[in-house]
Amino acid sequence: AAAGEAAYLSGLNPEQREAVLHTDGPLLVLAGAGTGKTRVLTTRLAHIIATKKAWPSQTLTVTFTNKAAREMRERALKLIGPDGEGLRWLGTFHSISAQILRQHAELVGLKSSFTILDTDDQVRLCKQIIQAENIDPKRWTPRFLASLIDGWKNRALTPDRVPSEDAHMFADGKGIKCYEIYQNRLKVLNACDFGDLLVHNITLFRENPDVLKDYHARFKYILVDEYQDTNVAQYLWLRMLAQGNHNICCVGDDDQSIYGWRGAEVDNILRFEKDFAGAKVIRLERNYRSTRHILAAASSVISHNRSRLGKTLFVGDDSDADSMDAEKVKVRGLWDGEAESRLIADDIESWVRAGGKHDDCAVLVRASWQMRAFEERFIILGIPYRVIGGPRFFERAEIRDAMAYLRLIRSPDDDLAFERVVNEPKRGVGNTTLAKLQAYARADGRSLYTLTPMVLQTDEIKGGAKRGLTQFIDQLNMWRDQHANGLPHTELAEVILEESGYTDMLQKDRSPQAQTRLDNLKELVRSMGEFDTLAGFLEHVELVMDASSGGAGEDQVQILTLHGAKGLEWPMVFLPGWEEEVFPSRRSLDESGLKGLEEERRLAYVGITRARARAYISFVANRQIYGRWQSVMPSRFVDELPHEHVDAMSETGFSGLPGGEEAFTGTMEDLGARSSYSSPGWKRLQENASRTPSRAPGEAGPLAATSGGTSAFKTGSRVFHDKFGYGKVAFSEGNKLTVDFDKTGRKKVIATFVTAA
Ligand code: ATP
Ligand code: MG
Repeated sequence: AAAGEAAYLSGLNPEQREAVLHTDGPLLVLAGAGTGKTRVLTTRLAHIIATKKAWPSQTLTVTFTNKAAREMRERALKLIGPDGEGLRWLGTFHSISAQILRQHAELVGLKSSFTILDTDDQVRLCKQIIQAENIDPKRWTPRFLASLIDGWKNRALTPDRVPSEDAHMFADGKGIKCYEIYQNRLKVLNACDFGDLLVHNITLFRENPDVLKDYHARFKYILVDEYQDTNVAQYLWLRMLAQGNHNICCVGDDDQSIYGWRGAEVDNILRFEKDFAGAKVIRLERNYRSTRHILAAASSVISHNRSRLGKTLFVGDDSDADSMDAEKVKVRGLWDGEAESRLIADDIESWVRAGGKHDDCAVLVRASWQMRAFEERFIILGIPYRVIGGPRFFERAEIRDAMAYLRLIRSPDDDLAFERVVNEPKRGVGNTTLAKLQAYARADGRSLYTLTPMVLQTDEIKGGAKRGLTQFIDQLNMWRDQHANGLPHTELAEVILEESGYTDMLQKDRSPQAQTRLDNLKELVRSMGEFDTLAGFLEHVELVMDASSGGAGEDQVQILTLHGAKGLEWPMVFLPGWEEEVFPSRRSLDESGLKGLEEERRLAYVGITRARARAYISFVANRQIYGRWQSVMPSRFVDELPHEHVDAMSETGFSGLPGGEEAFTGTMEDLGARSSYSSPGWKRLQENASRTPSRAPGEAGPLAATSGGTSAFKTGSRVFHDKFGYGKVAFSEGNKLTVDFDKTGRKKVIATFVTAA
C-alpha cells in the first residue's frame, strides 16, 4: 500500500485513518463535534469502493437529513469519481426503507404504489377515527393521537405489541384500539405514514427470513452517521441488516443527542458494543472546525450535563483556527427582539462589506417563531436569505391540492387525496354528500373511488352533487387513461389543472394571493420536469422533508432551527434568543427531572459547535409574547460560558431591566463586560442607549408603535412596579420609562409593567 497510497487517505490524522482502514467487523466512532466523523464516513465509503471490497450498490449509507445525504453523495463522488454512480442506497432512514418497502409491499399487505402520508393527512385520519369512536376531540385531540402512534412506531411497536399499560394514555383505554383502526384504515387507503416505513421493514424481515437474507447478501458494508439520534426502530432495522456481514460502522456523539423527544435513545451507543461482539471503538479528539474560544465555550456549557460519556476536545495541530487573533465568542444583551435582529443584520452587512459572503452566515434559532423578526429585517435591508426547513413550498394549499390530484392518478384508492380535491374547485359536493360516501366506504371497507360509481347508480345522491361526482370520476378515469397511454407527467399536470377548473378558479380569484398561487403551481410543474416519472416525482416530494425554498448555490444567509443545523458548519454563526423559557424552552423546564434540560444543553452545544470562526450569542430583556410585553431573563446557558473566552456586552448597561435584573447584572459582570467589541451596529446601539431620549415625553417611540399604544405616563407622575416598588417617572420614551424608584434608584422599565400610583 505504501507505494501508491491513495490520495484520499493523505489528509487524515492517525485515528481517522485507522477508522477508515478498519473496514471489516463492527466499528463505533465516538467523538465530539467537528472531529471529522462525517469525513471519516465519506472517506471510508470511498475506500471500500476504490479497493473493490464492494460495488457502490453493495454499500448502505444512512444519514439523518436529505441535505446531509446530498452532501455526502457529492463528497463521495469527488473522492471516487464516476465509479460512485451506483450509490443508490445512500440516503435517510426514510428514503432507504421506502425503497425496500416498494419492492416487497405485498408481503405486508400493501400495493407497491402505496402513498406516504404527511403529518397533515395523518392528523386528518386521526380526527376521523376519533369522531367515529365518539371520543371527545377537545379532550383527546387528533394531534395527540397522532403523536402517540408516532411514539409507538418509533419503538417499533405494532398494535399487537404495544404493552397494555400504554392503553390508558388515550381516551380511557381506547388508545391501542384507535391505533389498530388507524392501521386498518391505512391498509384500505394503500398508504403508510413515515413511522410505518421502518416498522413495515422490520415486520417484513421478521416474517420473511429469505428476504432479509437477500439484503444480507446485498449490503456488504453499512455506514451510519449521527448514530446518537437513532430510535429503537432504526436501531432494530440496522441490527437486522448488519447481522449478515457484521460490517457496520456507526459514528456519533452522545453530546449531540437532540432527538430524545422523538424517541432517540442515546443508549443505542452503549448497546452497540454489547450487540456487536468484538466491536472496535475509536475516539477522535482533534477538532478541525472551530477556534479554541468556540470549543472552550461549547465544552464549558456541556460540562454542566451530568449524564455524559465524557470526552475532551482540542484544536487540531495543523488547523489555522488556532491562530492567536481568533475572535472570542461574543455575548450580547439587547433591549428587545427588534434591537437583536437589527444588530445581527448590521453584523452581516459589515461581514459582507469586508469581503465575506452571505452564505458564510447562519442564524440558528430554538423555535421557528423566532425566524420572522430576522426575515423581516433582512427583507427591509435587502439581505438575501433563505429559511431551511421552514414553511415549505410543498405545504402550501394549492400545491397540496395539485399533489392530491396527482396522487389520485397514481393510486385512486387514496381517500385522503380524494377528500381533499373532490370539491376543489367547487363541484357541488358538500360535506353531507361526502359524509354519506365516507360512511358507506367505512361500512364496506372500500375506497371512495371504488365506491362512488356504485352509489351513483342508486338514488342516494341526487342533483348537483350527482353531476359533480360523475364529472369528477369521469375526469379522473380519463386522466388515468391518458397517463397510461403515455402522456408525460408534466403535461398531465397541466391538463389536470386546466380541465379540473383549478386554474380558472384562481384566475377569477381577486385576492392578492391568487397570482402567487398560480406562480407556485407553475413552479410545481417545472420541478416535475426534473423527474422521469410521476411515481418518481411523488416519491421525491413525499420524502423531501427539508426541501428548502430558494435555489441551492445562491449566496444567501441561512436561517434554520438548531435541530436542523446538526452536522453543518459556517464561518459565522448567530445564536439569538438565549433566554430562559425560550432556550432552554419552557416545555423542557416544565418536564420533571433533568432530562429535558440536559437535552436543551446538548442543543446549545450543537449550536455553538456549528461555528468555525465566529459565534455570536445574544439575549434580550423584553419580549413580546402573544402581543404582550414580558421581561425575560438571560438563559442559564449564558452563565455557563467560560469568562476568559467570551466578550460580553449589554445594550442597556447594568441597570433597570425589569424582572431579570440580578441575573442580567451578575452575568455581565461575571463575563467581564466592557470589552473591545467594535461592530458599527453595536457602536450605534451604544450611542442610542447612552443618549437621552430625543422624543418629547409621552411621544410614541418604536416600542409604543409595536405594542399599539402611547405611554400614558408623564414625566413626574408617580408609578408602581411589581418588582421595584414606588417611584417617579424621570422621562418616557414610547413604551420605555425611566423611573427613579424610591428604594432601588433609577431603572429603565417597560410601561406595561407599571401602574399609576
Ligand atoms: P459533527 O459532529 O458536527 O457532525 P463531524 O465530526 O462530523 O462534526 P466533520 O463535519 O466531518 O466533523 O468535519 C468538520 C470539519 O473539519 C470539516 O470542515 C472537515 O472537512 C474538517 N476536517 C476533518 N478532518 C480533517 C483533517 N484530518 N484535516 C483537515 N480538516 C479536517
Ligand atoms: Mg458530522
